[in-house]
Amino acid sequence: MTHSSPSGAQALDALGFRPVINACGIYTDLGGSRLSSLVWEAMSAANASFASLPDLLDRSGEVLAATIGVPAARVVPGASAGIALAIAACLTRGDGARMEALPEVIGVPDAVVLQRAHRYKYARCVTPAGGRIVEVGDERGTAESELTEALRGGATAILHPAHLDGVGTSLPLDAVVAIAHRHDVPVVVDAAYMSFPTDLFGAYTRRGADLTVFSAKYYWGPNAGGFVCGDADLVDAVRAVDFTGYESGRFLTFGRIFKHDRATVVATVVAAQEWLAIDHEARLRGYEERANAIVAAIGASVDAAPRSFTLDERIVDEPVNCVVLTLATTDAASALEATLAGAPTPVLCIPDGNQVVVCLETVDAADDAVIVNSIITTMEAKDE
Ligand SMILES: *Cc1c(COP(=O)(O)O)cnc(C)c1O
Repeated sequence: MTHSSPSGAQALDALGFRPVINACGIYTDLGGSRLSSLVWEAMSAANASFASLPDLLDRSGEVLAATIGVPAARVVPGASAGIALAIAACLTRGDGARMEALPEVIGVPDAVVLQRAHRYKYARCVTPAGGRIVEVGDERGTAESELTEALRGGATAILHPAHLDGVGTSLPLDAVVAIAHRHDVPVVVDAAYMSFPTDLFGAYTRRGADLTVFSAKYYWGPNAGGFVCGDADLVDAVRAVDFTGYESGRFLTFGRIFKHDRATVVATVVAAQEWLAIDHEARLRGYEERANAIVAAIGASVDAAPRSFTLDERIVDEPVNCVVLTLATTDAASALEATLAGAPTPVLCIPDGNQVVVCLETVDAADDAVIVNSIITTMEAKDE
């Protein structure tokens, strides 16, 4: 299961690195994604030489922008940092004094508007940059007049989480963009996990978002990678406020705390290119075949079915990427999840009520048999 040399495995063990089979999916605290050999090779090549980081970030941003078909893009160390840097860019627009003052906001409103129905955990990333979240509407939705009124009161950006677009009676992106642009306020879209289908990379920019943020972890890139893309002037403002300006520019920019290394920058772009080139139909077919085989191998020991586990953690029918185990009770499901996690080769799954989700997207096909054995053994032990 581990692919490292014996001494490598020992070194990892000494550091508390306990390899697990990740049947949860892409989660930051499980390490995000595993990098492909192509991405790993690119990182290794980047590590072999020094290079100018300002040049690398400029050029890799151009390549990324051309790859996904948007005016401009810039690699950032993850989508959370991307949100903070995007908001910082809106608050400063390349103004040196303002870039040094953040999180103290000078000369512009600090308000960043968020629809109340869009309340979500990464909105927190606005605050370190000096933005102050101002909520509009209620938990069901927002009226156009409420958004307009908030913008009239003075705002520097709107944060719009793509995965909550149109939820309830909230204003969808297109309506938000129309109102925002009438008031000259940029819209920042958090599209962190909207990397599939792959045309979503450019879709929010085409729909009028001024800056869109993606996380590399969701397209098999580095856990600490991501990018911001969209309007060229605003991406330029991200460039101005990021860590490169602190070192080689005239101002002690706010973005210094979001530092990047050259291997991660390279990996973030190479992984995006590879993601666009992958045969995704074959990828999805692969999960389905494996899910069917696992269900067949589990047999009668527990009710198992091929299902789909979404990135916002819902169980739906398609496209199949997981096996859902259904138990008699919530307690039985928690017990199964805990036993699998505590096995000599830990298998981490997602408990959900009386069900347990075994997500295959992050599992090596070679580990499917380990998972099946662990499930059968656990269920048999319980029956004794
Ligand atoms: C994971 C995630 C982020 C944060 O991305 P990082 O690259 O891990 O910083 C932001 N927004 C959403 C919706 C996410 O799922």
